[in-house]
Amino acid sequence: GVYSGRHYNTDQKLYERFTEETGIRVKLLEAKDDALIERLSKEGDNSPADVLILADAARLDRAANQDLFQPIESQALLKAVPADLRDSNNRWFGLTRRLRAPMYNANAVKPIQVRSYISLADPSLKGQLCLRNRRSVYNQSLVAFMLDEQGEAATKAWIKGMVANLAQPVFSSDTPMIRAVAQGQCGVALANSYYLGRMQAGDKGDADRKLSQKVTVSWPDPVHVNITGGGVTRASRNPSAARRFLEFLSSNQAQSGYAAANHEYPLQGFAEDPAFPLGD
Ligand code: FE
Repeated sequence: GVYSGRHYNTDQKLYERFTEETGIRVKLLEAKDDALIERLSKEGDNSPADVLILADAARLDRAANQDLFQPIESQALLKAVPADLRDSNNRWFGLTRRLRAPMYNANAVKPIQVRSYISLADPSLKGQLCLRNRRSVYNQSLVAFMLDEQGEAATKAWIKGMVANLAQPVFSSDTPMIRAVAQGQCGVALANSYYLGRMQAGDKGDADRKLSQKVTVSWPDPVHVNITGGGVTRASRNPSAARRFLEFLSSNQAQSGYAAANHEYPLQGFAEDPAFPLGD
């Protein structure tokens, strides 16, 4: 059994290929990430889940701290997943990368004003900035990244400056915020790039595809990288099949399709995305 917080049709096709190659059947249960953590924790040893896949390293870490994973011994995973994209105790491994970056309306702000995360706190952006609420795990992970990069005092000042620049009350999801940038209600927002990718590809309809053309991504250097990833559950009765499933998803043959399904990035390289200008 696989519990997954990802829900994209192309994932299914990849899981079918895994079954064709290995003879191992995949029984998939998809739900929201936090609901899956809660469910697995309630089910305990009786859980039918062998693999838990979640969006955001903060959630994977939470699941690990609740003892929902068992360590995996796999040379293939250690090789495929860079050290900064996996748990140091091998309880979970990243499978795709996602980036959170400023997205702006070029009619409202200049590129130089939004070239770094820190620049979003500059008073020149007063009344221009849109953000997700503080409970968003994406924001929490970005703050953790900034604490690491800048230290506590600078991070506090950064958050205070950004709050002072808010154009309107905080949003509860990324897509409406990107639409607000396109429509000029926000000059700039902080969002995950795959949400814009979905709009650009027309996944969300023609109206969103047109709106997406008014939005430009500013890639800070370094950019905040997060992951979707997975691990073998503590309760798993088929841990070696579960390990093989994760090895398959991290393999070269599966990687690009798995990431592209959600307009994310594979574990290594940006070659397939001309929109990402920083290189690897
Ligand atoms: Fe998301």
